[in-house]
Amino acid sequence: MKFGTKAVHAGVKPDPSTGAIMTPIYQTSTYVQRSPGDHKGFEYSRTQNPTRFALQDSIAALENAKHGLVFGSGLAAIDAVIKLLKPGDEVISGNDLYGGTYRIFTKVFENFGIKFHFVDMSNADNIKSHINENTKLIWLETPTNPMMSIIDIKAVAKLAKEQKILLGVDNTFASPALQNPMDLGADFVMHSVTKYLGGHSDVVMGALAMDDDTLYERLAFIQNSCGAVAGPQDCFLVLRGIKTLGIRMERHCENGEKVANYLANHPKVKDVYWPGFESHPNHHIAKAQMKGFGGMISFTFHEDDMQLSFRVMEKLKLFALAESLGGVESLANHPATMTHGAIPREERMKVGLLDSLIRLSVGIEDADDLIADLEQALA
Ligand SMILES: *Cc1c(COP(=O)(O)O)cnc(C)c1O
Repeated sequence: MKFGTKAVHAGVKPDPSTGAIMTPIYQTSTYVQRSPGDHKGFEYSRTQNPTRFALQDSIAALENAKHGLVFGSGLAAIDAVIKLLKPGDEVISGNDLYGGTYRIFTKVFENFGIKFHFVDMSNADNIKSHINENTKLIWLETPTNPMMSIIDIKAVAKLAKEQKILLGVDNTFASPALQNPMDLGADFVMHSVTKYLGGHSDVVMGALAMDDDTLYERLAFIQNSCGAVAGPQDCFLVLRGIKTLGIRMERHCENGEKVANYLANHPKVKDVYWPGFESHPNHHIAKAQMKGFGGMISFTFHEDDMQLSFRVMEKLKLFALAESLGGVESLANHPATMTHGAIPREERMKVGLLDSLIRLSVGIEDADDLIADLEQALA
């Protein structure tokens, strides 16, 4: 089945009791048993919920995976992944990643004796020197946030397989419409469903998708034991959002290209980070592993002045100044003080995350209006 069809149909069946075409919101905590243990596979909603199961199947299908799990947030999904490990285990992670991921790694799990290495993965060979017998997990994001670096998933997967290390890919920025990491060799995929999958800035949720039955069982056990499940109402909203994921992503990509080109030609703008540019250092990899270049763009000014960026963001009218991304509406964000505020300044400077950097999540509005908004704000 092609992507657009899967987005509408996968995981979703008419409700057996009424034929309702939309999956009902099973807003229930528990299920009545006829006699102890005589139930239809549903005991308690932390463990099983039909609305959640429909969404888990839908997300698994979108990632060409066998199993899906959805969590109360993207970070709850990451939390479950790291709980596969034990003290003394080591993780090799990209050095340019979502601020909250960096925070849970360094401020929560380092306290439990897990060691993290933050490595520039834009060249997969850089990973090798950090591997030792304790290395249990490689964690990567591509495109990275907010620098839009592209990491060669296939190359990293090859290395991970050779060394028998688990490879997880945070696929939030590309969405399954543009990139399927498991087809390239990843063991599992993680999403902040809050972003493109939900798509309407009305839900916080996370997901994991994987093929391996044992990995699935371990993660489902952690999910049920630790309890960070997504609620049925939110699952319904995401099931609805996913139906338009394919067409939304087409528009995000189209608008992204127009806005990126506009910014690249603006005299005040210094660098524009968007993987669709031929000049992007890993453009050829993006072209090979992505179906489109997306609507996430970062840019800096010739003068690396935070106040200049603040003035521009305050003047924007259509682009809302807000954290998050991936919704139908365009957003602007200042990573240094907002999404990536948890990362020390010297760390972010190393990857080029300057004080003036603005990150845009280009929505699905009319591109002419978005460009006119940027034009007046940059004037
Ligand atoms: C937002 C985000 C997360 C965290 O997800 P939440 O749903 O906010 O918990 C993780 N990774 C990336 C790339 C994100 O953008």
